[in-house]
Amino acid sequence: MKPSLLDFRLKELQEIVKPQFRAKQIFGWLYHNYADSYEDMKNIPKALKDELAKKFVLNPLKIVNKEYSSDGTIKYLFELQDSKTVEAVWLKMKDAQLNDSGEVIQEAKYTICVSTQVGCKVGCSFCLTAKGGFSRDLSVGEIVGQVVALKRDNEHKHNRMINIVYMGMGEPLDNLDNLSRAIEIFKEEDGLSISGKRQTVSTSGLSNKIDRLGEMDLGVHIAISLHAVDDKLRSELIPMNKAHNIASIIEAVKRFPIDTRKRVMFEYLVIKNKNDDIGSAKKLIKLLSGIKAKVNLIYFNPYPGTPYERPLKEDMLAFQEYLVNHGLLCTIRDSKGIDISAACGQLKEQGEFSKAKERDHLSGKIEGEA
Ligand code: SAH
Ligand code: SF4
Repeated sequence: MKPSLLDFRLKELQEIVKPQFRAKQIFGWLYHNYADSYEDMKNIPKALKDELAKKFVLNPLKIVNKEYSSDGTIKYLFELQDSKTVEAVWLKMKDAQLNDSGEVIQEAKYTICVSTQVGCKVGCSFCLTAKGGFSRDLSVGEIVGQVVALKRDNEHKHNRMINIVYMGMGEPLDNLDNLSRAIEIFKEEDGLSISGKRQTVSTSGLSNKIDRLGEMDLGVHIAISLHAVDDKLRSELIPMNKAHNIASIIEAVKRFPIDTRKRVMFEYLVIKNKNDDIGSAKKLIKLLSGIKAKVNLIYFNPYPGTPYERPLKEDMLAFQEYLVNHGLLCTIRDSKGIDISAACGQLKEQGEFSKAKERDHLSGKIEGEA
């Protein structure tokens, strides 16, 4: 596989491309104009472009399918250079605000859910991504390229704010070197300028890697996929809990550098008759005492063949109410894109199914469905 120009920070590109001002121009083409081909780069000499094209691809991934949800969510399927596929999701978080004359006074807000691996090694028993096993880590450019491609496809200008959540396929901290480089590239002021606080790394809890991410001091948020309050159930749900148990995760979170105004997010996947009882809520409060935490309850979203069930709404609300009444900030995740299985963490390679959808899309059927 050829490396990509999206693998590099500006200062690294300046080592590769001479004279240096050309590197800055190219960086602008990549992140301000979302250049899709070398031909797009009008003010760059052809000889330089030819030389670069021999060594680097511009886009290490191409969009092969899109699925549109009725709530504005779009799920993208990408094909990589080695024909493997990953998904990313464009989520509309807030509609644009208009004044009485219909002028936009505040733009709509979007979040991009990004994948970090093809498949996942962690093997959670409730997760679709885990079913396909692990294939490989994504390169830096493949992580960065998902955001560039989604902004380009949605004509979202480079200077418009966007949030990134690393909650797509894969365990981000299992690909920490490439993840941290991608985070730095997103932060580049001459590029997309997406600050650390607009980027949230979701992890199933590799406690030693939480420490390493903290030491890197990138200013990112962290979300912990906790899902259970005792190690027995957590090990059933997330096998590597045996090596990184709840206590070790809580200790790592306490060491993690967080903005004093912010909270650490704990994701709690609620599964019927497994962890949806008030006894668990009580234990959760105890576990999180002393941490500036925020809990996000997620409805388990069933799929064919899973032994787990979606919890009842009343149990979910009672769980939330108990936490809130005991002083814990708690939200219930609104499952965006549920009609197209685009909720983060529910992405998987769909093989033939995706190819069929792609044909449908090209013939305009999917857009019609939305
Ligand atoms: N590997 C990371 C990030 C990707 S998963 C992690 O585990 O945190 C992102 C989120 O989606 C996790 O909180 C995960 O628990 C959740 N998720 C996975 N499968 C799900 C399902 N079937 N229903 C609802 N949420 C699910
Ligand atoms: Fe991997 Fe996250 Fe799925 Fe677990 S929930 S298998 S860590 S992607």
